[in-house]
Amino acid sequence: MKISQNFDSGNIDCLSINENGEIKLAIRKDNNSDFSQWFHYRLTGAKGKACSMSITNAADTSYVKGWEGYQAVASYDRVNWFRVETAFDGQELTISHTPECDSVYFAYFAPYSMERHHDLIANAQLSDLVEHIHLGYTLDGQDMDLLKIGQEGEGKKVCWMIARQHPGETMAEWWMEGMLDSLLDPEDPISRELLNKAVFYVVPNMNPDGSRRGNLRTNAAGANLNREWQSATMEHSPEVLLVRSKMEQTGMDFCLDVHGDEALPYNFIAGSEGIVSWNDDRQALLDFYQQALVNASPDFQTKIGYAKDKHGEALMTVGTNYLAETFNALVMTLEMPFKDTVETPDEFVGWSPLRSQKLGQACLNALHQTMNKL
Ligand SMILES: [Zn+2]
Repeated sequence: MKISQNFDSGNIDCLSINENGEIKLAIRKDNNSDFSQWFHYRLTGAKGKACSMSITNAADTSYVKGWEGYQAVASYDRVNWFRVETAFDGQELTISHTPECDSVYFAYFAPYSMERHHDLIANAQLSDLVEHIHLGYTLDGQDMDLLKIGQEGEGKKVCWMIARQHPGETMAEWWMEGMLDSLLDPEDPISRELLNKAVFYVVPNMNPDGSRRGNLRTNAAGANLNREWQSATMEHSPEVLLVRSKMEQTGMDFCLDVHGDEALPYNFIAGSEGIVSWNDDRQALLDFYQQALVNASPDFQTKIGYAKDKHGEALMTVGTNYLAETFNALVMTLEMPFKDTVETPDEFVGWSPLRSQKLGQACLNALHQTMNKL
């Protein structure tokens, strides 16, 4: 039996392994930082053997509450990911599985590889609606890809969508795939109407370096990109600086920043209630969009989410707060679960790539309802 992790977004240290299927593992920290939670590894040579894989440092990771009620995902073909028996005793996270094949992959959530990202960009730019814009390079020399969809024009709104500032939140790029599928579908009446009224700027992956390196939260320099919006530099956080500069050129009426939450088993939105310029009109617009999304998807809800910042107490280094204040736009953080939704669970896959894609489509529906109010 062997454990390996030297592939795109691989992350695990194998401490010990024996022929009884007892395997001791540890999650590696993001480089240059103390964050950890993402794992992704391969087990080979264990077909038919009951394996017990213990992540021994689970209690030392960034979001220990993320392990409560959590089930890891596994895949034989790297396409279909299913949940496997997982238990957390307050110290170790133990994944129990009897592989049906010689090779099986395990991960924190269904991975979204950089190769798949390149396929996503390459396919999207085949559409006549799309212009691909190369914004610049990351610290590891990867491309920062931006898709411009539709045309600007008199009276048209400017809508931005960005995902995966936190690279381990792979559901955010699955969401992008579903959203782009709909937006680029020439037969989709909602998308056609959206493109009559707005131009879209889409960054499907804000953090390619962290993605490939198997980080939970940071880039190649150890920067948490969602704390860099006031102070981004080319040396520390070029991803944010490059995107922010483009936003300053285009302006912004609407922005969705797509994430995943380790602990909360819900889809929810966080607004920017703590910014200085927050007022009743902005609250009404946020409420309207959220209700539209409730109507568009039973997987979304508004009862459970983050505590709202008090007026004037917003952390302005966070993208949503910085952008809402700078552009006076409707800017929201969308959070999806690593676990599953409480009210609409799926025992076999939990929250999943397909369900993330469907939510991406529902978010366009909600935007369509909101467009005339922006
Ligand atoms: Zn996040």
